[in-house]
Amino acid sequence: MSHKCNSSHSIMPDGTWIGWFVNLQVNAFLCRVPFEFVQDRFNLTGLEMLVPSFHQTLDAILDTEFDTDYGFNPMDTDPELTAQLYGLIHARYIITARGIDDMCQKYQRGEFGICPRIFCNGQLVLPVGLSDRFGESHVKVYCPRCRDVYQPHARCALLDGAMFGSSFPHMFFMQLPQLLPEPPVEKYTPRIYGFQLHKSALSAPKSQSSGSNSPNNKNSPGQSKVSHCANVSLEVSPTSRPPMRRFNFTLN
Ligand SMILES: [Zn+2]
Repeated sequence: MSHKCNSSHSIMPDGTWIGWFVNLQVNAFLCRVPFEFVQDRFNLTGLEMLVPSFHQTLDAILDTEFDTDYGFNPMDTDPELTAQLYGLIHARYIITARGIDDMCQKYQRGEFGICPRIFCNGQLVLPVGLSDRFGESHVKVYCPRCRDVYQPHARCALLDGAMFGSSFPHMFFMQLPQLLPEPPVEKYTPRIYGFQLHKSALSAPKSQSSGSNSPNNKNSPGQSKVSHCANVSLEVSPTSRPPMRRFNFTLN
């Protein structure tokens, strides 16, 4: 990976709310949105409709005399709303050229973690939202090698996915295609004692269509070991298994 990102914005605490917020451990995925970006009303178009008490909350974000020891904004704004508005502004900022450069620095330092898939060989990942609307799901990480999404490390797992948006990693690699890795060539092959499994080994056995072997008669004394095994087989069959819940979020 030879690309060097250009940005050198400071992320040290400086008495501002933004400086305090992005330096919290739980917000380590977030980059610092420059004041001038937040102050440009063009960048905030439409957010008034999404965040209650918009102007007051925006003032809190732009606070330059934030009490970092107390951790509380004297403007008496709702901290949840302040985080929400900052997150929505952040999602817009990180798809600008400067924002992509900021996130590129974090990516190349490995701050978003690595792909948990063994055959991705520690590929660096980027944060992604599964929705662009706040409150629908937590942040995930996207692996550009296997092109799948995973749960991030626990420290930042409770950030809202809308703080990054569903397009960010794809915009990132459109801007920096030289960083896009090749797809993995290796694939895990299931084996038992070294032997590959025949595809029929994991398929559900054909049911005995009627009579005493019907599922309703499963307690009958005539039910043999074979039908017990059939139930086990059904549990592991890829065709009958319910979709794996990779993510820890609720849909309603
Ligand atoms: Zn991967």
